[in-house]
Amino acid sequence: MTVRAKKHLGQHFLTNESIAKDISDSLTNIGYDTILEIGPGMGMLTKYLLEKNKKIIVMEIDRDSVVYLKTNFKKEQLNLGLSDDRFNIIEGDFLKYDLSSFFKNKQVAIIGNYPYNISSQIIFKAIEYRAYIPELSGMFQKEVAQRIAEKEGSKTYGIISVLTQAFFNVEYLFTVPPSEFNPPPKVDSGVIRLTRKEVFSLSVDENLFFRVVKTAFNQRRKMLRTSLKSMNLSDTLKEDVIFAMRPEQLSVNEFIKLTHKIAKNVI
Ligand code: SAH
Repeated sequence: MTVRAKKHLGQHFLTNESIAKDISDSLTNIGYDTILEIGPGMGMLTKYLLEKNKKIIVMEIDRDSVVYLKTNFKKEQLNLGLSDDRFNIIEGDFLKYDLSSFFKNKQVAIIGNYPYNISSQIIFKAIEYRAYIPELSGMFQKEVAQRIAEKEGSKTYGIISVLTQAFFNVEYLFTVPPSEFNPPPKVDSGVIRLTRKEVFSLSVDENLFFRVVKTAFNQRRKMLRTSLKSMNLSDTLKEDVIFAMRPEQLSVNEFIKLTHKIAKNVI
């Protein structure tokens, strides 16, 4: 029995074993003893994750896949004599799951060949729960992977690049063509690794930082002086040279500096 791929769940099952192994090896294994895999499907990555000396939890929304995993992996697990504690299958939607109680005081690495329709939302959740996530790696639509890793000065540099890189170091690892999946997606895929920075809180009001970044990129072709108008900047502040720049020209650190300037202005 295998699982029939469902489009609405973004199911593209990886078929290449050595790529599955390479993805599972994209985790450094340092700084945590639990790995959460999102969207295991038929367990292509899971089997390599189980070779690691870690606790493995998989979260899958698709009932058929959960049944498949329970039949094929739980049995295997019993054969190997691995306790329930070592491998857990959760049927659930990662975006709706109560993550606060899931993480509690744990440090958890996240991995997956992610469903592409919700990949940005997965990243934003990881940013929100970063205190529990020292590392996240896995496969995204190539364009999204590149955007997350992109530096300033590029057309694809945007909200997700700045917000992710404010808290994580991002590395683009390798590209995977459509032919390695069943069914093949329409686009290339890219594997990236996010490693949480040692200091993962900002020196400035984080909500304001998020607001500044989002508001600036909402009108990415305009100068900040124009796009940030709604933030009630004083005339003197608007004279600062930084406000003559466009959002894609600002590094993460410059966005933080900009937020400092705005914070001083509104309070
Ligand atoms: N890891 C497998 C499957 C990848 S396809 C492989 O590499 O072959 C993406 C998987 O994510 C599918 O199994 C899909 O059912 C699952 N998925 C989709 N939305 C999800 C969600 N919100 N929460 C958890 N899993 C989800």
